Amino acid sequence: MSRFLHSKFNSLDPYDTSGELESMNGGYIRLNTNESPFQLSEKVMDCAKKAAGTLNFYSDPDCTKLREKLSDLMNVKPSEIVFGNGSDEILNFIFMAFCEHGAAFPDITYSFYKILAKFHGVDFVTVPLDENFRINPDDYKNFNGRTIIITNPNAPTGIFLELKDVEEIINQNPDSLIIIDEAYIDFACLSGRQGDGSAKNLIHKYKNLIVVRTFSKSRSMAGARLGWCMTCEDIARDMNNIKNTITPYNINAMTQAVALAVLEDEEGTQKNIDIIKKIRDDTKNNLREIGFEVLDSSANFLFARHEKISGEKIFEELKRKKIMIRHFSRPERITNFNRITIGTPEQMKIFLEAIEGVVRQ
Ligand code: PMP
Repeated sequence: MSRFLHSKFNSLDPYDTSGELESMNGGYIRLNTNESPFQLSEKVMDCAKKAAGTLNFYSDPDCTKLREKLSDLMNVKPSEIVFGNGSDEILNFIFMAFCEHGAAFPDITYSFYKILAKFHGVDFVTVPLDENFRINPDDYKNFNGRTIIITNPNAPTGIFLELKDVEEIINQNPDSLIIIDEAYIDFACLSGRQGDGSAKNLIHKYKNLIVVRTFSKSRSMAGARLGWCMTCEDIARDMNNIKNTITPYNINAMTQAVALAVLEDEEGTQKNIDIIKKIRDDTKNNLREIGFEVLDSSANFLFARHEKISGEKIFEELKRKKIMIRHFSRPERITNFNRITIGTPEQMKIFLEAIEGVVRQ
């Protein structure tokens, strides 16, 4: 710590990216960060190249074309959308703007909420998942204006909360802002179409709801950093005011161009989603056959523990075989679970052979 650092930052608790960094540099099969294993198409990459030619200019601070395209696709008004540099930035805006009366979220969920709450000095409570790792809407009552954050499907469990339960939480908390983080919703798809079961269908009904989305998962753009949210116009205006105060050009020109091109190919996106879902369900069955308990996932990852071998041992053994999955040393209840991102069929074949080897040892 330098002597110049503001005293309010004396005890920062940053997000741990060490696993990500290690797997980037060491020739690993990366099944640890819930990215898409599919590259962008040649056509999209050509758009990126074209956009690179405009990088001498600032990017469009309103993402006008992208906003219009998304508004058409999602059936919301352009003024009901906010863009962020990854959905992590959207979450940051939310903690900055709206959590004066505290926050509440499940005890097992995306770890960034706790990090942001601490950073912004937001008082937070965590609500335990039930014995089946499910969110029980009855547990979300009497929060007196705390902002409630639900990841749906949840991470790292992958478990989906039905829209009627989401709506129950909203109804029970008219004085709270409700955040539904739908980073993985495209893989839930009850009827097979991306985005089914989304709380986006409620944003015109409730004025205390923000639905957060990302291009990092189903749309293969994790490295381009693009997140966004849908909400009522008043809330969107507040968030855009904050955005325009601290980071007006938060979405770079290449990312805007690439996202627009990706949205032109919804069929391609749906095809990738269908492949991931199929491999996910096959891998779940394969793991169950060799003694794993695997939660029913509606996301692009599985959460699994073995009846006899510790989570840490499985993680270490796979790492030795150059396969990186995500191990959680906390909280205690999940230390024997690992989270496994769904990769390509070839990667999952290697993964399954390796994990069978670990079990047989
Ligand atoms: N929400 C959840 C639940 C996530 O798992 C992630 C990715 N780790 C994010 C938000 C952030 O994703 P991004 O910033 O890449 O949009």
